[in-house]
Amino acid sequence: MASELDQLEANIVGAEGVGERIDALVALGRALLRKDIARAGEAGDEALALAQEIGDVYREGICLGCLAAIANRVGEHEQAIEYGQKSVAILESWGELGELVLSLETVAVAYWRLSDLSESLVYFLKQLAVCEQLGDEEAHGRVLSGLGVLYSAMGEMEKAIAYEQQGLALFRKIGNKDREALLLNNMSYHYMKMGDYDEALRLGLVGLELAESEKDIYRIIVLAGTLGETYMKKGDIGEAERHCLRGLALLDQHADPNSELDLRFFMGQIKLAQGETAEALTYLEVAVALGERVGNKDALYQAYELMGETRVALGDYQAAYEAQLRCNRIKDEIYNEERATKLRQIEVAHRTAVAEKEASHYADLYASEQSRRQLTEILQQLGQAMVDQVDLGQMLAEILRQLAVLVSFDRGAVLLWRDERLVPITVWPEGSGVWEEVPLVAIGEGPLGIILGEKRPFLTTTTADLDLSPLLRPYFAGGSWLGVPLLRQEVVIGVLTLARREAVAYDEEGVQMARALAAQAAVTIENKRLYQQSEQRAEALTTLAQVGEDILASLDLQVVLERLATHAHQLFNAIQTVLWLRQDEGELFAATVAIGKYSDELRADPMRLGEGFAGGVAQSGQAEIINDMDEGERGKHVPGTPEREETPAALMCAPLQMHNQTIGVLVLYREKAAGSFMTGDLEFLVGLARQAIIAIENARLYRRVQKFNEQLEQEVVARTADLQVAYKQLERLDRTKSDFIAVTAHELRTPITILRGYGQLLEQDALLVGHDYQMNLVSGMVNGARRMHEIVNTMLTMVKVDSRSLELQAEAISLGDIVKKVVRQFRVEIGERKQTVIVEEGMDDLPVVQGDREALMIVFENLITNGIKYTPDGGQIMMRGRMHEVDGRQMVEVQVEDTGIGIAGEALPLIFDKFYQTGEVANHSSGKTKFKGGGPGLGLAIARGIVEAHGGRLWAESEGYDESRLPGSIFYLLLPSKG
Ligand code: ADP
Repeated sequence: MASELDQLEANIVGAEGVGERIDALVALGRALLRKDIARAGEAGDEALALAQEIGDVYREGICLGCLAAIANRVGEHEQAIEYGQKSVAILESWGELGELVLSLETVAVAYWRLSDLSESLVYFLKQLAVCEQLGDEEAHGRVLSGLGVLYSAMGEMEKAIAYEQQGLALFRKIGNKDREALLLNNMSYHYMKMGDYDEALRLGLVGLELAESEKDIYRIIVLAGTLGETYMKKGDIGEAERHCLRGLALLDQHADPNSELDLRFFMGQIKLAQGETAEALTYLEVAVALGERVGNKDALYQAYELMGETRVALGDYQAAYEAQLRCNRIKDEIYNEERATKLRQIEVAHRTAVAEKEASHYADLYASEQSRRQLTEILQQLGQAMVDQVDLGQMLAEILRQLAVLVSFDRGAVLLWRDERLVPITVWPEGSGVWEEVPLVAIGEGPLGIILGEKRPFLTTTTADLDLSPLLRPYFAGGSWLGVPLLRQEVVIGVLTLARREAVAYDEEGVQMARALAAQAAVTIENKRLYQQSEQRAEALTTLAQVGEDILASLDLQVVLERLATHAHQLFNAIQTVLWLRQDEGELFAATVAIGKYSDELRADPMRLGEGFAGGVAQSGQAEIINDMDEGERGKHVPGTPEREETPAALMCAPLQMHNQTIGVLVLYREKAAGSFMTGDLEFLVGLARQAIIAIENARLYRRVQKFNEQLEQEVVARTADLQVAYKQLERLDRTKSDFIAVTAHELRTPITILRGYGQLLEQDALLVGHDYQMNLVSGMVNGARRMHEIVNTMLTMVKVDSRSLELQAEAISLGDIVKKVVRQFRVEIGERKQTVIVEEGMDDLPVVQGDREALMIVFENLITNGIKYTPDGGQIMMRGRMHEVDGRQMVEVQVEDTGIGIAGEALPLIFDKFYQTGEVANHSSGKTKFKGGGPGLGLAIARGIVEAHGGRLWAESEGYDESRLPGSIFYLLLPSKG
């Protein structure tokens, strides 16, 4: 072997001319392909450079082929493809088939390595074709082995092995041990993949023996991998490890990243299985590095996956996560990178090939596919047409017209099942003869009976045997006949009939077409029905909404009920509508509302509970439809209305129920010809009846409220009158009292003045002067008369305040002055009571007020004497003043505060009434300042009267009345300041 290489090296040196040198370099390059790839690369590069230098395109093609093979070896498959394709183009044009085979193979292998199987297949097939032309068994064998690889990649192991067996035979025949070993390896691998480990091992070991004898290091390495994997699969870890280690050891002599990647991956698996996790990791780390380098994604993702597991075993979850993530990414890439699509392309190519072989069969398939497509198109068009159509007859006619495109027939019809009759809705050809309605046929009898009963198409080649009723004749044409049921949820709603004059039966396909269109017709009819239903429902809802509005709009019950009945009457196209209402909770019902021709007759003849249909509904409380009045003999004839035979009518009744009692019945009559009433109609009527109840209840409540209001109003009027009487009485009393006071005061004034006058004369009488005893009596009399005079004056002031006839002499007054003057006036009394009066600073600075001096003196006299009176000995009376703004007006405020017994909360608003006083009458004293010595109860009333006459206010505040705690009181006086 070495000598051969030496020889090749020698050839280069000894080459005569550039051409020869190039050839020698290429020969060396090829020879070194699996032995010294670096040197091979050098040789190839030099050869290419030389060929380009001398412009030898032919040789350039050969060099490129060689370089492509080298690139493949080192895993640079894209480079290999680029070189290879250039080489192929050149060699094809030169017709150099021998070299062309090599380049085609290189490209095919490169594509395969890149997982582009369809491209790979293309090149292998070209190679196969060239081989056949060439008669090159060697190359032929290689193509076979290449196809083996390709099919295995497509998962077709058996096919792969079949090709490989041919190749193996070929290589054995020509004695190519190297290739034989390769095929043994591949077959071993494929058996392994198929799960036949024994066969895999047998072939692998034969291959290994061969490679050993040939000293083919590369092959030994590859086989080490295959055997290692097979042993592992078999569960013989020991053998697996032995082979893998052997392969790895040999890599020193022949570097091959792909094999190394495989071997290290297997070792990783083995170590993991042996529990030597750390070692496994070491193997796998190198494996993934290699995989990343050569870009072998299939191997790489498996390596990462295993690495993930290893990391988990080592407890390094972060790294495990990353490895798994990388694994997932690569897997994604593999899928994304056209792998799937390319595989699919091959599949399609494959299928097409098969299909072409079965061309005739396919042609049939195609034809039926075509007509199926036509049917689909027609159905689609029909679907569209149905959306635009409104009229059911037109819709069905369209369906028949379209069916005529697909199936031939002379007469056709669509009949719908209505009221136990089959009614022709549309016929073909239009306007041909008289098509009668077909009354109820015995189910299971005759063609229509069979269709209705068995819900399946009925088909006959000849109608000669059928005993057809004359009614049915138009639907038949003498020859073959096909009837298909129109089904809606397993219920036959109609029949589609097709008739031909010829006695040839409709074939299966014809039946299918008719069925498809019958289904379309059924859907169309159902849609139409649903549409109508929803239309009706919308109309009914609108009516209910209107009735609701009517109820709100009017409180007049009769009006509301009439409107409600009118709505129902119109909605249902009724001929007569009656609303019966129960009279006085008795047995009789009156036609409160009646719309229609016989309203007067109905109004004239009250209905009795339990009598006739409506009376029955009133009794049972159950709404009811009576589409056929003949059933049962419950009907009652109202005099003056037509007999039911004359105008057959359908009716429905809904009870009006309130608190579990039927208070009325709503009844609708419709001409029989206008159609039967449906459950949905009755539901609606019940809804209306409920609305009527609401209206009645509303009216009842309204009447009650109205009555209540009326009662209330009457009561208010009565009470007001009472109050007015009482008020007048009080007023009279008050006036009488005031008059009495005024009269008394006036009457008393004169005698008191006389008493005082005479008393004063006696005080000065010379006869009495010096007689102490007599003088004492006289001064007692004079004092009593003065006090009486004062009281009478007070009473007269009160009368003036009351009658608002106080005459005020307005002048500018300083309240400080007045206060001080009054305090001075009571100096003696204050001293007797050991009280302190404090007039706080600032009283003098208060702005002047416009007022009557004397009157204001009275105010403060009263406030201060009260302070003295209702404060125990030793207490305090404080006075302070300040400016105050009230409602934008400047006011002077004076407070008179004491430390006395206080005033109870409830007494606060009353103390300003005249004659109000809390003290006991027994405590009354003539003294003005004695503790709790209540007066006549006029002081505060007069004070407030005077203050109010000045445009001011007077009020009091106190925490309450308590003789031991002494909470005190504060009197507030507000007077407008001058200016
Ligand atoms: P009288 O002549 O009884 O004092 P007034 O009209 O002056 O009449 O007062 C009415 C009542 O208001 C008094 O009987 C008393 O109960 C209560 N009152 C007036 N001022 C004070 C006060 N400073 N402290 C406690 N009670 C008072």
